[in-house]
Amino acid sequence: MSTVKDKVAIITGASRGIGASVAERLARDGFMVVINYAGSAAPAAELARKIEAAGGKAITAQADVSDAAAVKRMFESAEAAFGGVDVLVNNAGIMTLAPLADSDDAIFDRQIAINLKGTFNTLREAAHRLREGGRIINFSSSVVGLLQPGYGVYAATKAGVEAMTSVLAKELRGRNITVNAVAPGPTATGLFLDGKSPELIERLAKLAPLERLGQPEDIAASVSFLAGPDGAWINGQTLRANGGII
Ligand code: NAP
Repeated sequence: MSTVKDKVAIITGASRGIGASVAERLARDGFMVVINYAGSAAPAAELARKIEAAGGKAITAQADVSDAAAVKRMFESAEAAFGGVDVLVNNAGIMTLAPLADSDDAIFDRQIAINLKGTFNTLREAAHRLREGGRIINFSSSVVGLLQPGYGVYAATKAGVEAMTSVLAKELRGRNITVNAVAPGPTATGLFLDGKSPELIERLAKLAPLERLGQPEDIAASVSFLAGPDGAWINGQTLRANGGII
């Protein structure tokens, strides 16, 4: 795709799960990619090797997105390696489920720190640094629509992400930068699968009319659309990629 040649994409939380698929897909689309991770150095390095072996360009960048100084360093290393940043995919996130009555301060603070403040930290840097024509893709969740019991704190962080998405789209007026969010439904990654029984996974997989779990590649395809030339006219929106669950 010649239009994305020489463009640079940072994908947060790209060592595994959806983020790893997004990095691979955007590299295949022609972007130079920055694979951010918090702790999983080896899988991130392996993904970079795989992308390079397929003819792409990739570096890894360790940064806990909840740490504003580390996020700044991540952008600086991307600029040093590739000359600038055009696309930010704010994929890093965690989920801890518990009824509000049983959610302790640590459950609340950690999800706020990574999902909400982490997204804020990267958006602030991106707002200063993204080149003209850039794209920002945040990660919400379809639980913002479903609002099931147990998802209170997690859904609240993602509702905040959707709000910042629409606000930043307006604040970047005049720069030809779009800001959107993708809101997956149940997707087959550690975040969704860990701690659930096979029966519960099967039941949740059948909720969407398409009657299966999303795969990381399904979500990467939506991100590819929003980051690529065909997504140019979509701005300030949240795209629910969920097989029709809501
Ligand atoms: P995952 O498989 O658990 O992967 C999470 C990724 O985020 C890992 O690469 C992890 O890196 C990284 N990460 C975690 N904390 C981080 C931090 N503080 N700083 C930087 N990176 C961090 O999760 P996933 O399912 O792919 O989720 C990706 C996004 O989709 C999240 O925002 C999630 O809320 C959203 N989502 C997922 C689903 C689903 O069903 N899977 C549904 C809706 C929305 P390390 O390994 O290095 O820690």
